[in-house]
Amino acid sequence: MATVSLAGRDVTVSNIFCIGRNYAAHVAELGNRPEAEPLVFLKPTSALLADGGRIELPAYSQDVHHETELVVLIGRDARHVAEADALDYVAGYGIGLDLTARDTQSELKAKGMPWTKAKAFATAACVSAFAPASAVANPQALTFSLTVNGERRQQGDTALMLFPLAQLISFLSQHYGLTAGDLIYTGTPEGVARLQSGDALTLSLDGLAQAQFTVA
Ligand code: MG
Repeated sequence: MATVSLAGRDVTVSNIFCIGRNYAAHVAELGNRPEAEPLVFLKPTSALLADGGRIELPAYSQDVHHETELVVLIGRDARHVAEADALDYVAGYGIGLDLTARDTQSELKAKGMPWTKAKAFATAACVSAFAPASAVANPQALTFSLTVNGERRQQGDTALMLFPLAQLISFLSQHYGLTAGDLIYTGTPEGVARLQSGDALTLSLDGLAQAQFTVA
């Protein structure tokens, strides 16, 4: 059973929702246009990789990208939640990687096929331990970063989200329903790039969470 750590205790993960195209500069770097509503896809819990884990690059891809994202842990079931109440459903905040086989994704997009092969492979959902929501005064004012081999690769600021967290949680609760233990990967800022075997990654979220991964 897949679990994440919240303030030292294990929480069983239910669903893993991911949001695409949620930062304008990243939308632009891939040549996409902003969406009228949140772009949602899913990863299986078998894709989870906890702090300290080894990323396995799939043999069919030559271009696996890091996407560094704030990850929300949902604390209780939510259905048709208003934006004004949405943050009450958050149990914790962490930092993660939505790993993406970019070459595979491009092929799938061209064929109009789902992104599963590009986004859902084993170890494609890296995630830190979670800090309790009570420790975060304003989750739309958090900075986060990724370094690879000691070099800064991505820097994010949650104030720049196109769809803020309350809107995402409200939207997901209405369309799909949220369950205690769900994770939401909230989109990457610009700076996505290729990972290589041997890379050492460090993720950090504003003094709240940190995680390290190596690429096998
Ligand atoms: Mg992403």
